[in-house]
Amino acid sequence: MSDSIKSIVLERLGQIKGPDLEGDIVSLGLVSDVFVSDGRVAFSITVPAERAQELEPLRQAAEKVVKEIEGVENAMVALTAERAPGSARNTAPKPAPRQPQRAPEEQAPAKPGVPGIKHIIAVASGKGGVGKSTTTANLALGMAANGLRVGVLDADIYGPSVPRLFNVSGRPETVSGRVLKPLEGYGIKVMSMGFMVEEETPMIWRGPMVISALTQMLREVAWGDLDVLVVDMPPGTGDAQLTMAQQVPLAGAVIVSTPQDLALIDARKGLNMFKRVDVPVLGIIENMSYFLCPDCGGRHDIFGHGGARAEAERLGVPFLGEIPLTMKIRETSDAGTPVVVSDPEGAVAGIYKDIATKVVAGIQQSAASQDRAAPKIVFD
Ligand code: ADP
Repeated sequence: MSDSIKSIVLERLGQIKGPDLEGDIVSLGLVSDVFVSDGRVAFSITVPAERAQELEPLRQAAEKVVKEIEGVENAMVALTAERAPGSARNTAPKPAPRQPQRAPEEQAPAKPGVPGIKHIIAVASGKGGVGKSTTTANLALGMAANGLRVGVLDADIYGPSVPRLFNVSGRPETVSGRVLKPLEGYGIKVMSMGFMVEEETPMIWRGPMVISALTQMLREVAWGDLDVLVVDMPPGTGDAQLTMAQQVPLAGAVIVSTPQDLALIDARKGLNMFKRVDVPVLGIIENMSYFLCPDCGGRHDIFGHGGARAEAERLGVPFLGEIPLTMKIRETSDAGTPVVVSDPEGAVAGIYKDIATKVVAGIQQSAASQDRAAPKIVFD
C-alpha cells in the first residue's frame, strides 16, 4: 500500500516544474526519499539556500498535489537548502532556510508563540538513557498536580516514549483542515510522532523533515489553552537539537543528567547549546541520583551522587533536585502509570512535584526578566 502511494506521489510530483520552470522536480533529482506511513507522507525538496523563500509556492504546490492523492491523509513537505560546494562534509541538518542568515547579535526573536500556550519549555539531556522522558512525564504530571494546564510534545522522534509513558495510543483525529487533536493521558494533552508511525518502523529522518514534523506538532495541533507545554527533546546536542531549540519559542530548558562525570560533560554541552540560542536554562535535575533500596530502605550513592549539584553551582544554573534510582520509577514508567499518578502521595512523587514547583517558578522568573528586557533600545 505505502509503496503504491509512494509511486503515485512521485508521479504527481513529476508534474511539478523545477525552480526555473524547466524540467520537473523529480527528474531534476530535487525530491528526497519519500517517507510514507499510514497515509502520512513526508519528503523534502532541495533548493538553493538563497531561493528558499521565493520557492515557498513550489513547496506548497508539491504539498497540495500530494494531499489530493486518495489515501493520503497528510503531507509534510520541507525545502532543504542545497549545500554549497566545498562546505564542510557535514551531513547534519541545516536550520530551515526560511529566513536569511543574520549575524547572531542582530538575530531577532523570529519565533512566534503558539496561541493559547503561555509557556513552552524543553527537557533535554546530553545523551540517551538518562531518564529524560521519564522525568518529562513526571514533571508534567507534577505541574498538573499543582493545578496547571499542561501538555507534552514528544519531539524525541528517534525514540518516542511519551505514548508508552502516558499509556495512550491511536491516531489523533483531525479537527479542522490539517489541525490534529492531541490525545490525553492523566489530564495531560500529549502529541507524539509515535502516534503517526508504527513503533517498529525504523525512522530515518532527514533534518528538514524533523523540523517540519516538529513545527506541525507544535503549531498544527489543537492544544487549547495551556499554562505549560513541555517538549521532550531528542537526546544529544547535535545540529538537529540545536535547530529544534531555535525553532521552538522556548521560555526555558531543563537538563536531565545522571551523576556520572561523563553524563555531566554531556549535560554541559546541553547547557551550551541552549546558551547559543539564547534560551534560559531553568536548571539541572540529577536523575538516578542515589539508589533507594526497597529491602533495607537505605540510600546508596552508587554513582557517587552530588556531581550535578556541584556542577550546577559551578555553572551558575539552578540545581532543581535529585531523583533516586528506584524500581518503582522504572516499573511505573514502563507500565504507563508514572509514579506521580500511581502513587501521588509517595515520597518520590513529592520529589517530582517539588521540582515541578521550582521549574514553574523559574519560568515565571525568566518570563518576568524577558518582559523587563523587552523594550530594549540600543544606541551605538
Ligand atoms: P531517556 O528518555 O533519557 O532515553 P527514559 O526516560 O526512557 O530515558 O529512561 C530509560 C529507562 O530508565 C527506562 O526504563 C526508565 O523507566 C528508567 N528510569 C528512568 N529514570 C529512572 C529512575 N529514577 N529510577 C529507575 N529507573 C529509571
